[in-house]
Amino acid sequence: MIKVCKFGGTSMADGITMRRVAKIVESDPSRRYVVVSAPGKRFSGDSKITDLLYETDRCVRETGKCGEEFEKVRERFRAIVRELGLDFDVETLLRETKEEIEREKSTEFTASRGEYLSGRLMAELLGIPFLDAREYVKFDEGGRLLEKRTFSLLASALKNNERAVLAGFYGADEQGKVRTFSRGGSDISGAVLARAAGADLYENWTDVSGFLACDPRVVDNPAPIRALSYRELRELSYMGANVLHSESIFPVREANIPIRIKNTFRPDDEGTEILPSSEYRFGEKIVTGIAGKKDFTVVFVEKSLMNQEIGFARKILTVLERHAVSFEHMPTGIDTMSFVIDSNELREGVLEAVLREIEEAVHPDQMRVFDDVALIAVVGHGMSRNVGTSARLFQAIARAGVNVRMIDQGSSELNIIVGVDNENYERTLRAVYEAFFPSET
Ligand code: ADP
Ligand code: ASP
Ligand code: MG
Repeated sequence: MIKVCKFGGTSMADGITMRRVAKIVESDPSRRYVVVSAPGKRFSGDSKITDLLYETDRCVRETGKCGEEFEKVRERFRAIVRELGLDFDVETLLRETKEEIEREKSTEFTASRGEYLSGRLMAELLGIPFLDAREYVKFDEGGRLLEKRTFSLLASALKNNERAVLAGFYGADEQGKVRTFSRGGSDISGAVLARAAGADLYENWTDVSGFLACDPRVVDNPAPIRALSYRELRELSYMGANVLHSESIFPVREANIPIRIKNTFRPDDEGTEILPSSEYRFGEKIVTGIAGKKDFTVVFVEKSLMNQEIGFARKILTVLERHAVSFEHMPTGIDTMSFVIDSNELREGVLEAVLREIEEAVHPDQMRVFDDVALIAVVGHGMSRNVGTSARLFQAIARAGVNVRMIDQGSSELNIIVGVDNENYERTLRAVYEAFFPSET
């Protein structure tokens, strides 16, 4: 039995939590491989090391020097070594890191140092080898993970190491330049290592007792989800349930390695099991979970008989492609078509240009833009077996007095997505949650 365990930022926040991590790892001999994040927040209002490093990067670009944010990083790592009572020359390591950051002047290199340093310390604490992800996790020029090459490099490293710690979040391209995943990417590093190790289980240790049926920052005490399929996970995490990075299933999916989300601060809680869709047993539940995100822009295009106009959608998509704008959803009606775009994708002036070119390309009868739209996704395999799910959903939204801006039902019947104004997001999320997970009182 081999387990790969990934510990997130709150689990690595200080020396005390790192001791907890060591205890968890050492309590089960099958927990042979460990992936760590950079230290996260110790209390609300605290800074994550990775955020401090992005600030450091800005300072290096402006002044050529690391500046005071990096001093905070140094102080955090010094304190960890002190709390752990490690006999480890952290001063030299921090000095070298500072020099390297100032020499390399690369955002991704700087951002990766949190994981590098916490990995070094965790390896020291556990007394096992440290694997620098720079040598094993490979990216192409465009920053995409080279899966096969990474699996084979890691697999040969693991042959020589019964146990090891791998730093999460980063790797390097073929020129040896450090590259990082997107934020929260240590979850992907953990999945990659699980795959390379041929693990029986990928344990993802965080600060909640598993996946909850809704965002705990919006809904009080949401119900825990015991089991979830890879596909449900993908839908929920992509739509904002960021407990696990939405790309973490890809490395483990082909090898059918289950994932278990566990709570470092309540290790005996059962947590959530994430299984291949084929092994997932549908319960009685209609809806598995609800997630959402703010800040989308919806471009609504209407033209009578557009369905008969060959190439209509292609012409619009070509405009989006020309401006390198990707879209999240494309709900259509007989004479209407909408494009849901992450507002952060629309740099200054791009939306105006896109609208002008759509106008020229297809001469719509009407075109409207809704800004500040939030999306809410209701996800569950059970929905396809139940009539009345959408009625229940829309009644709940209507009772909350909220106007629906758009609706999209995925063709898999695994999700229904509704768009509402940003300002109504929290209210709608609570109403929808209550409709499918009524409180007992
Ligand atoms: P880590 O640092 O361990 O990777 P993250 O902060 O990335 O942890 O993810 C855990 C956090 O995700 C939780 O503290 C919680 O606030 C948030 N979260 C958002 N949606 C959900 C959900 N549906 N279930 C559980 N946690 C959620
Ligand atoms: N430390 C990185 C971040 O804050 C990666 C991670 O925690 O997964 O995004
Ligand atoms: Mg995370």
